[in-house]
Amino acid sequence: MPRQGVLLVVSGPSGVGKGTVIARMLARLPDVSRSVSCTTRPPRPGEVAGRDYHFVSTDEFRRMREAGELLEWAVVHQDLLYGTPRRPVEEALATGQDIILEIDYQGARSVRQILGERAVLVFIAPPSWGALVERLQGRSTEDAEATSKRLASAIHELAHVEAFEYLIINDDLDAAVDNLQGVLLAERQRLTRLQWRPFVEDLLREAGQ
Ligand code: ADP
Ligand code: 5GP
Repeated sequence: MPRQGVLLVVSGPSGVGKGTVIARMLARLPDVSRSVSCTTRPPRPGEVAGRDYHFVSTDEFRRMREAGELLEWAVVHQDLLYGTPRRPVEEALATGQDIILEIDYQGARSVRQILGERAVLVFIAPPSWGALVERLQGRSTEDAEATSKRLASAIHELAHVEAFEYLIINDDLDAAVDNLQGVLLAERQRLTRLQWRPFVEDLLREAGQ
């Protein structure tokens, strides 16, 4: 049955495990795509341009923003710019493909305003503050200053949980992946996404009604 694609927005504090949970789910569901954001932050060791992010200069980011090439954008961690390229999202939705956006709470709010109920907002929380600090420090991708900026942003993220529809606590990783997958699979079956009418009419015709 033809259906509308699901736009899954996943937010939560830096270091909570969003990237890890999403990557595991995508390994299970290869037909789902992931939006690649633009950012003005430098790449971390091991990050690949075009796969993890499009790493751009501040001037290039501004150009894209002014040209209307970004669906949403936000200042995150006090001074870094992040944004979602518009075209891949529009193409996915136009062709009934599911797409995941890993963006902050400000971006989630913008996407909700622009796309309404087509977007599903999921917040991933840590089991405790201590676990978040441990994961962020354990990842060792940021220096002390960048880590403390991320912890400050985490407080802002947590203050906006109410704007989301689903809350998943990433304690046991497999359970978090199961829960995120459960949300996506359930949202695929939402009546308003399905072209159900011709299907049910056919069933009734077959039944002689
Ligand atoms: P985010 O994308 O939210 O910034 P990452 O996916 O980079 O976070 O995860 C941050 C760190 O936490 C990584 O080192 C990752 O391996 C670890 N991690 C993720 N999920 C869990 C979990 N459920 N339990 C323990 N460690 C986790
Ligand atoms: P990091 O620098 O750790 O990769 O990401 C930092 C934060 O920026 C995370 O909270 C992440 O969700 C957010 N982020 C990543 N891409 C985007 C984006 O395109 N738009 C918005 N609004 N936030 C983003």
